[in-house]
Amino acid sequence: MLDSNLLQEKGQEELCKLKRNNMRLSRLVIVLAFLSLSLLGLLAIIMTIGPKSGKTTESGTASEIAAAADIPEIKKEDKWQIILVNRDNAVPPDFTVDLIAFGSSLVDCRIADQLSDMTEAANKDGVMLTVCSGYRSVSQQREIYDSKKQSYLNLGYSEEASEINTCQYIQSPGASEHHTGLAVDLQTTGAVTLEENFADTPAYKWLDEHAEEYGFIERYPKEKSDITGVLWEPWHYRYVGVSNAKAIKTMGICLEEYVELVYN
Ligand SMILES: [Zn+2]
Repeated sequence: MLDSNLLQEKGQEELCKLKRNNMRLSRLVIVLAFLSLSLLGLLAIIMTIGPKSGKTTESGTASEIAAAADIPEIKKEDKWQIILVNRDNAVPPDFTVDLIAFGSSLVDCRIADQLSDMTEAANKDGVMLTVCSGYRSVSQQREIYDSKKQSYLNLGYSEEASEINTCQYIQSPGASEHHTGLAVDLQTTGAVTLEENFADTPAYKWLDEHAEEYGFIERYPKEKSDITGVLWEPWHYRYVGVSNAKAIKTMGICLEEYVELVYN
């Protein structure tokens, strides 16, 4: 009887030990689970407060591109270099421009030297490059616009369709960059003036390699027409200053995107 009691007590003792071990194991599992959840939570927080998602472009977020290219600081007196004139930003009514003759065209006097240096450098490299159009007044733009629109009306297009078609090729009066005197249309041998085959000429290749050195950018690149609102114009170049031109070229963006990065 005594042995049987002893055995029972020992059995209970073993049972208690087993229970204690089970409890320790359970606590360990709970602690490990808690630590794992905390780690996951921490990772989630890090990912949330990481690089903020901005406007995405072809090669990353706008902020990433800005950081990569290191946008130059633009002095107040140089802000004119990046003036944006497009379908959403008409040239201000009080806008004035100091013009100078450049060949048979007019340009803003602040870009004449660089434009001259660029065309002369191209010529020295055996590439013929001349300016066929520079500054245009709003009334001159209206004449060009109305003439193009009339050609669609003559073909039987409705008023609305004629407007839409014209807008694809001609900026509406007040929205043309040519009003600034900072934009030029270039021509060369071997290409029809103001036609896309300008892109097949040595002049286009030369500009692609050198325009930025003189502060000019291809203003309406093929892949940016949805942003610029203008179809590809490989002949249209815009002066933005050397440092801006180099940054824009490096980033592979258009002026609309650049201006947004500068001011935001
Ligand atoms: Zn043009």
